[in-house]
Amino acid sequence: MVTIEEAQRSILASISLLETERVSLFSGLNRVTTVDHIAPWDIPPADNSAMDGYAFLYDTMDGDRLRVTGFLPAGEYRSTPVAPGEAIKIMTGAPVPPGCDTVVPVEDVREDGDAIHVAASAKKGAHIRKRGEDITEGEKVIPAGSLIRPQEIGMLSAMGTSSLAVYRRARVAILSTGDELLEPGSTPLPGKIINSNSYSLGAQVLDAGGEPLMLGIAPDTLEGTIEKIKSGLNADMVVITGGVSVGDRDFVKLAIEKLGGKITFWKVNMKPGKPLAFAMLDGKPVFALPGNPVAAVVSFELFVRPSILKAMGHDRIFRPRIQAELLEATANKGKRPHLVRGIVSVEGNRYLVSTTGNQSSGRLSSLTQGNGLILLPPDASLSAGEKVDIMLLDRGFEMGKEASL
Ligand code: AMP
Ligand code: MG
Repeated sequence: MVTIEEAQRSILASISLLETERVSLFSGLNRVTTVDHIAPWDIPPADNSAMDGYAFLYDTMDGDRLRVTGFLPAGEYRSTPVAPGEAIKIMTGAPVPPGCDTVVPVEDVREDGDAIHVAASAKKGAHIRKRGEDITEGEKVIPAGSLIRPQEIGMLSAMGTSSLAVYRRARVAILSTGDELLEPGSTPLPGKIINSNSYSLGAQVLDAGGEPLMLGIAPDTLEGTIEKIKSGLNADMVVITGGVSVGDRDFVKLAIEKLGGKITFWKVNMKPGKPLAFAMLDGKPVFALPGNPVAAVVSFELFVRPSILKAMGHDRIFRPRIQAELLEATANKGKRPHLVRGIVSVEGNRYLVSTTGNQSSGRLSSLTQGNGLILLPPDASLSAGEKVDIMLLDRGFEMGKEASL
């Protein structure tokens, strides 16, 4: 039996980077760029007006007065200098023409026929956005390895880019095993239950940025399991649930071995999720996760999600860890670390956590009610108020319902 950390280290050591592909800007969102993006020009490309106002040479004002001799909207360009003592009306974004060093906003002038009077508060050099004040030509603006967020998409488009090179999405085959399983949409017959693991796992793949390849359900036979696993080998990784324990009809490990796969480890010292095998088969990582719905989701979080993120070039591949104060006494009487589903909330700068109740690994509602996993060491008996480590599954609880700034 290996520890969670040993299992993670051993798995991640066998995950390699996927190839790169060129995609459109929007398809690059939440992906990782594989090349440095260098500014091809200055942004802004020229000194330009930050306001709708008047541009002029400050020291040539006649008292507070200037003659208005032109108009320059955004999108146009004027190469002839503005004469001393004159101003042109200029719109936000228009390049400041030669012969001007100042813009005064329309709000700060009094118009008087073809002249203006400038408020005493107007400052020399004001309201001009300098050429290159955002980025300068040749600057490395978005280094290789960066996560592409909406602001990077904006910056790339400002640099004239309409497509970008990113690591391609991991294709992850998802296979459920079990003669008891029916697909969603059907009504459970006696002895049957609905296959939920394929869908929670498929959604976890999507959430990590991968593409699920749904293989359906393998029957509890060696041949059937082998057939199904084979059909997943054109994916980048294979995730199987169920059939990996010691039941008479648990064929997953044997099927992997019959196909020539090498099992790196089986059984991780954790609860839920002990029966978990990792194998390399045809150079592809194969995760054989437990069948219990909670164990499947939790072990995906610990082992598969970081693998997908690593393969897709991310460097931050683990969920955030925080410490929270227990709202109730909580114990782990067992000999394995227990990943207890918790409800984390925030009060001022304190994180608080309570458990989701009955922690049976078949109880999917223990996950839907919560947002984090409390990491309880073996033989632990903690009182209310004591601090525990939490792996956060989502940070939605930190988002506001009320506007506040
Ligand atoms: P197994 O490891 O195959 O013995 O499965 C353990 C438990 O998880 C059994 O109660 C199964 O019915 C249940 N289970 C296995 N696969 C799934 C699945 N795809 N969806 C929902 N429950 C499952
Ligand atoms: Mg089974």
